[in-house]
Amino acid sequence: MKKLIRLSKSSLSNIEKKLVIEVLDEEFLGMGKYVDIFENKLRKYFNREVVCTSSGTSALQMALQAYGITKNHEVIVTSLTYIATIQAISATGAMPIFCDIDEDSLTINPEEIEKLITKKTRAIVPVHYSGGVGKLDKIYNIAKKHKLIVIEDAAHSFGGYYKNKKIGTTGETACFSFDGIKNITSGEGGCVVSSNKKVIEKIKDIRLLGVKGDSENRFNQKRSWEFDVDEQGWRYHMSNIMAAIGIGQLSRLNEFAINRRKIANLYDIEMKRIGCEFIKHNYNKILPHIYVIKLPIEIDRDYVRKKMEENNIQTGIHYYPNHYLTKYKNSKIKKLNVTEKVYKQILTLPLHNDLNNNEIMRITKTLEKIINESRSNNNNN
Ligand SMILES: *Cc1c(COP(=O)(O)O)cnc(C)c1O
Repeated sequence: MKKLIRLSKSSLSNIEKKLVIEVLDEEFLGMGKYVDIFENKLRKYFNREVVCTSSGTSALQMALQAYGITKNHEVIVTSLTYIATIQAISATGAMPIFCDIDEDSLTINPEEIEKLITKKTRAIVPVHYSGGVGKLDKIYNIAKKHKLIVIEDAAHSFGGYYKNKKIGTTGETACFSFDGIKNITSGEGGCVVSSNKKVIEKIKDIRLLGVKGDSENRFNQKRSWEFDVDEQGWRYHMSNIMAAIGIGQLSRLNEFAINRRKIANLYDIEMKRIGCEFIKHNYNKILPHIYVIKLPIEIDRDYVRKKMEENNIQTGIHYYPNHYLTKYKNSKIKKLNVTEKVYKQILTLPLHNDLNNNEIMRITKTLEKIINESRSNNNNN
């Protein structure tokens, strides 16, 4: 049996390992100096205020909360996203309102957004699917016209650029994830990037159970003993161990960018050859998180996945539409034609920093063979 090719994985070097050992040796594992350092490095990277969090999900939830999103509010979002986006919205008490997507980018379709706006609508959460931001300008224009907040779910897009600015800095507030398989990881973790100082200050307290000023104390390796709380908080801070991994990963961003782009470019050539080309990204600008193809309509995706698995190649589906889930089924759903159609055809191929050219060719050759077999099976039936 050939070596297993994983769909995604972390890529950890001696840089991260050394930093983690440093934290272990200091025996201060919680939120302290290393989180302060990581936050400062991210602040420099974005040239904006940053708050580190326990996950991308908690970053989104706290950002929504900091903007006052709460029950009886509606938040417009795509259905083709990780459940995290949707649960972050419903955690605030607000209702996710599912909007259809553009078939070429799988990001929210601005033309559909306006049809969903009601008196209760407060925010739009665009998801930068696979790394690209879609029609972000149009989304901001609609938001401005209807006085809505935009919070970008930038979990897929760390390291990318939009209009020659870093993704996450072209609007007001964006949330990133540093979970194990994202463009950079801090083990688990995430951050909120915002130009809105009030929002940042609020989240700094919310992440530490609402304890006012506790972030500064912890960065000085202290704790708050007598304090005030004026808002629901959560235990959503980042730990020193996580930050140590994050610091190491951020220093390797250039390596990750080169490798991820190289892999995606090679896939593009191969997919064009076998007729599965799909999202057209400019890889000089964005840093791809996942590589998604659209199978020809007559090909059975589950058959392809099964055969790839038999060849020891993992594949994925990004994502099972959230409006199919029991918890979210009953929200006011219009038919999402593009989402429902495209979901059946999408397939995610392996993409991570440590994939080599031979493995990419093994993946694409195997896929080609399976598609051809599937076609001849169809013809024989
Ligand atoms: C990973 C991810 C999140 C959540 O991030 P976690 O760090 O796993 O909580 C949110 N949205 C999208 C689109 C993601 O891929």
